Amino acid sequence: MEPTKTETLVACPVCGLQNLTNFMDLNDYSISQEPFKIVQCDNCTFLFTNPRPKSEYIGPYYESEVYISHSNSSKGLINNIYKQVRHYTIAKKVALMMRLVDGKRTILDYGCGTGEFLNVMQLNKWQARGIEPSEQARKQAIDNYKLEITSPETIYNLEKGQFSIITMWHVMEHIHQLNETMAQLRSLLSEKGKMVIAVPNAESKDAQIYGKYWGGWDVPRHLYHFTQKTVEKLLEKHQLKVVDVKPMVFDSFYVSLLSEKYKTGSMNPVKAFWNGLRTNIAGVQKVNNYTSLIYIVEKM
Ligand SMILES: [Zn+2]
Repeated sequence: MEPTKTETLVACPVCGLQNLTNFMDLNDYSISQEPFKIVQCDNCTFLFTNPRPKSEYIGPYYESEVYISHSNSSKGLINNIYKQVRHYTIAKKVALMMRLVDGKRTILDYGCGTGEFLNVMQLNKWQARGIEPSEQARKQAIDNYKLEITSPETIYNLEKGQFSIITMWHVMEHIHQLNETMAQLRSLLSEKGKMVIAVPNAESKDAQIYGKYWGGWDVPRHLYHFTQKTVEKLLEKHQLKVVDVKPMVFDSFYVSLLSEKYKTGSMNPVKAFWNGLRTNIAGVQKVNNYTSLIYIVEKM
């Protein structure tokens, strides 16, 4: 990669200190196959991809054309599982929103993709709004579901304090302007509002099992690799606090399938299922073993 297309952070995005240690050398096993590094802050333990593609050059790493052209039966399997599970997980997410809301039913989904979750919220009479960087995904969501969806820079024009719920489903690990975005999202939240943040868990059981092949690293698309501790540190910096932590149990199976593929070249569904199950069993004992965690967050 040309050096101008990447940027190297000299300080930890969470605590600002400059003592960084190499944590892992790994590749982008899903799209580019290029090598990347994850570093760890000596002070607060935060893990992040460094160097990383600049935001204006990260687009090609999201394009799965290469991946699709090499498609095979295992790719079909994973898509199928993904679609079936999505239906169920959207219903679970909507039920969670109903439990959490205190006041007006207004929601902002930051990184809403093609809008499937927001569409169901809208059908449930919520006032729904989405933010999505991909123009193609935005267009699809607007055409299919008549949703109000705009690009990330528009968060700075929205009226403060208007949302009872702000969701980020596997999004916070992708944001270049992490601190600016979190500060702005906090300001858009109502006084009793809740943020719901789902991210992969870098300390999970399957991250330990698969090492550098773990699907949750997903470099360079994942710029940050959160743990419970570092999520709390980041949020605290923005006067936000975690009030509850919940698992996403299906992620364990999905991520294990990806991890098997990266490690061995094929999905090994039986082995992946077993490792997904092991991860969830470990999670029942200790929440920090789950593949992905959902943080329920309030203003301090
Ligand atoms: Zn730090």
